[in-house]
Amino acid sequence: MIELVDIKKITALHGDEIASALTGVARSGWFLKGPATEHFEQEYARYIGTRHCVGCGNGLDALTLIIKAYMEMGLMHEGDEVIVPANTYIASILAVSRCGMKPVLVEPRIDTLQIDDALIERAVTPRTRAVMIVHMYGRCAYTERIGEICRRYSLKLIEDNAQAHGCTFGGKLTGALGDAAAHSFYPTKNMGALGDAGAVTTDDAELADMVRALGNYGSERKYVFSHIGVNSRIDEVQAAVLLVKLKYLDEENARRRANAEFYIDNIHNDCVELPSKDYWRQSVFHIFPLLSRHRDELQQYLKCNGVLTDVHYPIPPHRQRCYAEYAYLELPITERIHREELSIPVSQVLSADERAEVARLINEFQPSCK
Ligand SMILES: *Cc1c(COP(=O)(O)O)cnc(C)c1O
Repeated sequence: MIELVDIKKITALHGDEIASALTGVARSGWFLKGPATEHFEQEYARYIGTRHCVGCGNGLDALTLIIKAYMEMGLMHEGDEVIVPANTYIASILAVSRCGMKPVLVEPRIDTLQIDDALIERAVTPRTRAVMIVHMYGRCAYTERIGEICRRYSLKLIEDNAQAHGCTFGGKLTGALGDAAAHSFYPTKNMGALGDAGAVTTDDAELADMVRALGNYGSERKYVFSHIGVNSRIDEVQAAVLLVKLKYLDEENARRRANAEFYIDNIHNDCVELPSKDYWRQSVFHIFPLLSRHRDELQQYLKCNGVLTDVHYPIPPHRQRCYAEYAYLELPITERIHREELSIPVSQVLSADERAEVARLINEFQPSCK
């Protein structure tokens, strides 16, 4: 069986170092807000290229804390709008809703699968306060045009970097392109923890302090509470594991990229549309997304032949029950992506034999009806 993401193998890659990181924290007796957290925040800020990094509980909290912090700073208010890509994972949109603000869904482009920068300006209203870009599947979603629109309308640019740790754009990393970025270290992400963890990166010292306070019950000083906060911190155990993982992130992303390039060069089947090599060159391939009108049949065929895949994602946010108020929207490109997308194994532990097998099977796939 070829797994989509073999977490056991991924953990075993640095098994000894991870085990000693865990033991080190257990023996230290310091489990929250300690030396591992501080060290990880410094190292991750340095890696991303921002002045500040604040660890928190998970990626959804990281996004939510950024927006809440802007609200506490008086820059955003309930009922304000945030532009988000319509084809994102639901967490990007939930973060906006959780803050009492309104997500405004904008279609992606079918050739990039990223938010269509030509449609963003039309979605701007007097209540728009931010554009949230999501680096879908590990490919940078930022464009100069998005930066320019944000400057012209004084909008904050928030990055959802859950899927793109280590992705570059013009000499910078995603997570350092906008005003603030949220990172998720959910176990299957490119840099995964052994449980939930997240972080915010930013150059803005005031924002970083506010995010840190809000994630710590709204407290800047022990037993003094200035804001209505939450408890969302990164565990020392996760910070220590992520310090190990960070050392190997670039190398592992290079392996993902090599697997993806192999697919792009070696999969030839008219029923399957691959990501274009040029556009995806800088992707860190959190996911290798192909499109097929025969997606469900292809997925079943691969499963019968021992290859596990997934769909990111089967139901678009505006068709979810929790967002019934968006059900009237017609978003044909988003809907097509959700109907046709298939994620095939591309992780850092996929072997050369395995990727050759995946390519061979896809090349031999014939749908039952054309
Ligand atoms: C995983 C993910 C999140 C949420 O991260 P969690 O750590 O699971 O809360 C947010 N946005 C995107 C695009 C993601 O892929």
